[in-house]
Amino acid sequence: MSRAAATRREIADADWRDWTWQMRHRVRNAEELARWVRPSEDERGAVAALAERFRFVITPYYASLMDPEDPECPIRRQVVPRLAELGDPHGVADPLDEVAHSPVKNVVRVYEDRIAFCVNNECALYCRYCLRKRMVGDEDWSMRRRELETALDWIRATPAIRDVLLTGGDPLVFSDDRLDWLLTSLRAIPHVEILRLGTRLPVTLPFRVTDALCRMLERHHPLWVNTHFNHPRELTPEAAEACDRLTRAGIPVGNQSVLLAGINDDVATMKALCEGLVRLRVRPYYCYQAQLLEGTAHFRVPIERGVELFRGLRGRTSGFAIPQYVLDTPHGKVPLSHPHLVGREGDHVLVETFEGKLWRELNPEC
Ligand code: SF4
Repeated sequence: MSRAAATRREIADADWRDWTWQMRHRVRNAEELARWVRPSEDERGAVAALAERFRFVITPYYASLMDPEDPECPIRRQVVPRLAELGDPHGVADPLDEVAHSPVKNVVRVYEDRIAFCVNNECALYCRYCLRKRMVGDEDWSMRRRELETALDWIRATPAIRDVLLTGGDPLVFSDDRLDWLLTSLRAIPHVEILRLGTRLPVTLPFRVTDALCRMLERHHPLWVNTHFNHPRELTPEAAEACDRLTRAGIPVGNQSVLLAGINDDVATMKALCEGLVRLRVRPYYCYQAQLLEGTAHFRVPIERGVELFRGLRGRTSGFAIPQYVLDTPHGKVPLSHPHLVGREGDHVLVETFEGKLWRELNPEC
């Protein structure tokens, strides 16, 4: 029996399925990590070297998905520090210039009609490639509540805002009562039409998605959820159950992955991920190019290779199973895709089919 399986057997099922137990018993140091996997020299060195720079925290549930013997395991690489994080000449702390796009603390506004509302700094675990690694960490609720009130005042006073994405951190780390208070406050603002939750908990702590949570969320429709699966091994029965609860509560669930070198940057893995998501009724929505974020050079994939990867999916799986590959910039998202519109021949346009053949289509006059 592997050390992960042995550790799991020591934990009572009732505790294991209790999301608050999982939060209280998160893996936070090398000794606890060694209960789940055999840490490599590189991982041990990185845990010590990075302790003060970007914390390492993993839920026992997600730790149980890691391959105990393989440091290259795609689950393990997402959350266990590596020494490569120390060497990255191009990375910056805030690649999307979110600080400059913040009209009030915790609000990021790039577009006229919608905002990202960073409601907390805490996640169930900390992904090593996290865009907001400059700000995630534990925090104090009373100070947070005052800051949230200030942001709510700004939204009330800004009628152009019709779409609010609650992100963080992760909004589902809040208790049901805190999240209910926040959603109720937003719902009371007449110009806010759509609420969205950006959460990785269906992936990293699926037990958080309880029936009680879904009953509360249902009261705040129209509400959408975007989650964040990166690899087919994350599509466990527990994650499927969490997504099923959300969709049965009438919440459309989308997925935003990140293209990560050595984790999901090949056609077979991405296809298995996207088809698995669709089986769970989760729509693959975006796949992000990894940002030029400090300490993440080892995760970044050349954009041309990303474009080829998604070109390789076209025509080989259901169209709605293919996410849009995008680069997020301080000026909004930019779709990255192979140019299928090849050129013009008289009154025809030339397009390239998924098999690489050219098709001539009569082009209607403008
Ligand atoms: S769950 Fe999202 S916000 Fe939290 S550490 Fe991971 S990528 Fe960052």
